[in-house]
Amino acid sequence: EKRRAFREIRELPDQLISQIAAGEVIERPASVVKELLENAIDAGSTHVEIRLDGGGIKRILIQDNGCGIPKESLSLALKRHATSKVRNLDELESISSLGFRGEALASIASVADLHLSSKVEGSDGFSIFKEEITPAALKKGTRIEVTDLFYKTPARRKFLKGEPTEQAHCLTCIKRIALANPEIDFSVFANGKGVLSLPPSTLEARLERMMPKEFLEAHRTVSAETPSVKLYGWVCLPTAAKTRTDCQYFYVNGRFVKDKVLTHALRQAYADVLHGSSQPLYCLFLEIDPLKVDVNVHPTKNEVRFRDSSAIHQFVFHAVENAISQSVLADPLTGEL
Ligand code: ADP
Ligand code: MG
Repeated sequence: EKRRAFREIRELPDQLISQIAAGEVIERPASVVKELLENAIDAGSTHVEIRLDGGGIKRILIQDNGCGIPKESLSLALKRHATSKVRNLDELESISSLGFRGEALASIASVADLHLSSKVEGSDGFSIFKEEITPAALKKGTRIEVTDLFYKTPARRKFLKGEPTEQAHCLTCIKRIALANPEIDFSVFANGKGVLSLPPSTLEARLERMMPKEFLEAHRTVSAETPSVKLYGWVCLPTAAKTRTDCQYFYVNGRFVKDKVLTHALRQAYADVLHGSSQPLYCLFLEIDPLKVDVNVHPTKNEVRFRDSSAIHQFVFHAVENAISQSVLADPLTGEL
């Protein structure tokens, strides 16, 4: 029998607390990209430039033209549980920004080198690196450079895949965010070469840029509304289904989610027309009173919890089933009704 003597309880050092917290949110370069892009969007940016080197492992650089961070807030931006987005429980429960935990920058800085520069309208720009603030020349907005991800936590680094795979994950993440923010201009470079350029456009135009030809040729629009929830977007007809799941975009209040309730409702709507490993393609936006959905379920905020999940399930199921069942009446050659 193993007996262990009591070992003195101690508070963890701050850096280690952040590294533990980082474990939940920062899994790979794509997680860094997601957090930084969400910050750029929350800051009201209309132009965002993303540079990835070595799949984002060597370097991620994101520059936006958003509101910026004033000099006196720069060190707070990097501090754990420090945020400009939430002040109290009421605000948390009715949150409309993508961020609110005040943990991303602190987490990233604990597992990589993070260089933050920012400039607000009408004042000079400043940089912060390792707690030291220096003047910096830049246009209004924020520039964040993250280098050598996980070099501080080698055990984590071992779980990363090769650079091409990590780069692909970053691009998937960028596309998810870009599709929900068509008015924002995104340019993406990988190892110095332009790989994706999305000028500001309408949602329809961005969808056309991002969805495969098969989908554009065979889809239906979805539009349904009750007094408390609204669903709109596009779903594929069975002929456009694929075996891959990379064109399944579902957003709740502008946030990309992978939610069991919603995925199940979708599967069920296609149950009679899709079989085996065939996957529907879709881009759907659910809008719901923030008080009726909890986004504070997981640190990555990719999951949500609906207050009335069976009503949401029914609503999504019927709206999608309705949209695709119209195709039964459609001309099989043109797809037109
Ligand atoms: P959160 O987004 O949950 O507030 P973060 O750690 O991601 O936490 O960011 C901390 C704070 O730094 C934000 O609340 C915001 O005030 C500021 N910030 C971060 N990125 C940007 C940005 N790109 N533009 C303007 N402010 C930013
Ligand atoms: Mg954030």
